[in-house]
Amino acid sequence: MNPGSKTSILVIYTGGTIGMVKDPESGVLKPFNFDNIYQQIPMLKLLDYHIGNYCFDPVIDSSNMNPRFWAAIAEVIEKNYESYDGFVVLHGSDTMAYTASALSFMLENLNKPVVLTGSQLPLGMIRTDGRENFITSIEIAAARIDDTPVVPEVCIYFENQLLRGNRTIKYNAENFQAFKSPNYPSLADVGVYIKYHHANIRKPNFKNLKVNSRMDNSVSILKLYPGISENSVKAIVQTEGLKALILETFGSGNAPTEAWFLSLLEKTIKKGIIILNVSQCQGGSVEMDKYQTGVTLQNIGVISGNDITTEAAITKLMFLLANENSTPNIQKKLSISLRGEITTN
Ligand code: ASP
Repeated sequence: MNPGSKTSILVIYTGGTIGMVKDPESGVLKPFNFDNIYQQIPMLKLLDYHIGNYCFDPVIDSSNMNPRFWAAIAEVIEKNYESYDGFVVLHGSDTMAYTASALSFMLENLNKPVVLTGSQLPLGMIRTDGRENFITSIEIAAARIDDTPVVPEVCIYFENQLLRGNRTIKYNAENFQAFKSPNYPSLADVGVYIKYHHANIRKPNFKNLKVNSRMDNSVSILKLYPGISENSVKAIVQTEGLKALILETFGSGNAPTEAWFLSLLEKTIKKGIIILNVSQCQGGSVEMDKYQTGVTLQNIGVISGNDITTEAAITKLMFLLANENSTPNIQKKLSISLRGEITTN
């Protein structure tokens, strides 16, 4: 930012309910173009910031999000990084936690705020939650102390809470409070004041931004359930080209100890496929040494996902597979926190 000049925020519009309108014929919600947003919130123009905008064409329902689109968002941020003080990404809430996680890995040495937000009701509706989400996100992206951004990380702002992006999950399809971060406290709570919890926020490292936009989606997720069949497990672990698998386990990382199951996993790991143990529980951590059912997984080479969310785990694997040159390096990086996505001590 030039001294004396206005704080500048780039709003990147990808789509989602916040900017949707009802199709008059079918009655279903469809993404609409960006001009709609300014028509709906004319007071945006009253904020004392320079607000630029970048609108994807076409805008999408976030169920159509994919790694190419993540790369495109990261590249827009990279191209505009020097010209703006912060970024607000308007995004559908359905896959927002995946995008926030992916961006956190792609944007290495991020020293400016990237705030994702959206809404449960479109801006055009009287009871919309989008107006407050959008305006407060801009305030957060613009917040600075001594010319240093207050929140230099990828985060999600939704219904009065600012959460670390790669710790967040969408857990409610209809409450305005749609997101939570079960294993990491909020970065800020918003009421009359925006109360930042500075101790929870990542510190800037003042290094140059490095954008790693490549992702390798040779990954899959196997969610366990009592009664899972050998054929179902086989179908997943024998997927052509598979390089890494998230095993969504019970409780603190437990799985059946049946011989056929363990032998399938062992063969998979011997083929060089990484298996990461992530709990189906939203809160708490994988602790494979707690029960015999976890120890057996550890013994065959399954890696602990610690307290990572599935959203962060899948995007971290895509990121590591595309950017690391050896399996041991990937295994090592899975056990450490790259962007605050797991608790290590
Ligand atoms: N289906 C919408 C989307 O994720 C829901 C939303 O925006 O809240 O794009």
